[in-house]
Amino acid sequence: MAERRPLVAGNWKMNGLAAQSSEIAAICAWTEKHADKLAADMLICPPATLIMHFAPHMSGGVALGAQNCNAEKSGAFTGEVSAEMLVDAGASFIIVGHSERRAGFGERDADVKAKAQAVHAVAACAIICIGETAEERGLGSTLEVVGRQLEGSVPVGSSGRNTVIAYEPVWAIGANVTPSVDEIAETHAFIRAELHRILGGQADSIRILYGGSVKPSNAAEIFRVPNVDGALGGGASLKSQDFAAIAAAYLS
Ligand code: PEP
Repeated sequence: MAERRPLVAGNWKMNGLAAQSSEIAAICAWTEKHADKLAADMLICPPATLIMHFAPHMSGGVALGAQNCNAEKSGAFTGEVSAEMLVDAGASFIIVGHSERRAGFGERDADVKAKAQAVHAVAACAIICIGETAEERGLGSTLEVVGRQLEGSVPVGSSGRNTVIAYEPVWAIGANVTPSVDEIAETHAFIRAELHRILGGQADSIRILYGGSVKPSNAAEIFRVPNVDGALGGGASLKSQDFAAIAAAYLS
């Protein structure tokens, strides 16, 4: 089985100004300090406006990512930003299909797949988000929904080099509630099996992150779950102290 180095990723969403450089500096300093003992990669996805601003100041191997991109390479798409532009600014990861974009901006699986393909085309890594709503969970269709999203959103040619999956139950995002560890284990095992079905052997190298109310107090327990290869955090990633405390679960 392929070795998967965990990834602790933070999604700042539409939060952050240039003055937040100190939070980035603190997380870089923490990562640098613990480099020998930290068994995880670190990633911050600030708003697109800050990527170029932060890029020259990154250290300790902390990567920068973006939260969305347009699927087109360039052209008359006022207000949009392409994957190539984000990479040019300093991003090496791009989140696609976050539930807030699926719900608030009408993104469907085919749109998410096109965006992931655009990310792959510029040799960056797509973090493809999937996850069921509270209603879908109530109907007992979590695995069915997640399976359909994987089938529709993950491009041919995906591998651990260019793709990360983030399982984020929509009802757990920003809600201070998570599925039980047994439920996370069941869903992540299912995702791994589905990736195998879709991609064959490449599936073993793809990191599957859990996202949804990850905090310093629950990170270690969640990271022990088989097939959980790290986290995508929202709220807790805004404070370097909390983000570091989550990553600290991967300190030996
Ligand atoms: C998210 O929106 O991706 C997320 C996981 O948010 P939070 O950690 O705040 O629940």
